[in-house]
Amino acid sequence: MDNKKRAKLIFSKLVQNYSSVPMLFLDYKTDAQMLCAIILSAQSTDAQVNKVTKKLFKKYKSVNDFSNANLKTFEQEIRSTGFYKQKAKRVIECFKIIKNVYGGKIPLKMDELIKLPGVGRKTANLVLANKGIIKGIAVDTHVARLAQRMGFTKFSEQFKIEKDLLNIFDKNKWSRVNGLFISHGRKICVARNPKCDICFLNKKNLCPRKGLN
Ligand code: SF4
Repeated sequence: MDNKKRAKLIFSKLVQNYSSVPMLFLDYKTDAQMLCAIILSAQSTDAQVNKVTKKLFKKYKSVNDFSNANLKTFEQEIRSTGFYKQKAKRVIECFKIIKNVYGGKIPLKMDELIKLPGVGRKTANLVLANKGIIKGIAVDTHVARLAQRMGFTKFSEQFKIEKDLLNIFDKNKWSRVNGLFISHGRKICVARNPKCDICFLNKKNLCPRKGLN
């Protein structure tokens, strides 16, 4: 079976099994909070970020709030997300640029977003996909691992994996691939010892890895 056909079947199986998957697992109310949460989620879990932002976002809501944050205070407020010094600096710098260069509006173009501190292709893709602007596939560690195990890519670089996935999955499915792969990667196709024996993709012979732990 060719990869495109397999991708279609895998997608529909994932949708059946993870029907209520959100596009983003992070909690936020404003666009500024969404961008902040995505930056904080680097090297951290969404659950940990949500724990921190529950309190943080009562204080910081707008581009102004984040750009005016006191570095030392902010560092402590996000400390438990890890790499807090670097992240605090990036978040504040990022929002200062949004305020001063983009008139307080988050730029919604890939080439502008990736120039912001703390914003790489993955973050930019998540922001744009969430805003319904572009339909890309944000490649994080789960997406990369599953794409490799499913035989959709032989690469390890994010942008190359993304390119392969964009070629294989239909355009109208791109915005959901990240969430579905993350769900499957957390529950069954986990990093160490994937549970191939109970995997519904394995049962349908859709994954070439098939129990080869
Ligand atoms: S069969 Fe195994 S490697 Fe393939 S998707 Fe399922 S758990 Fe992951």
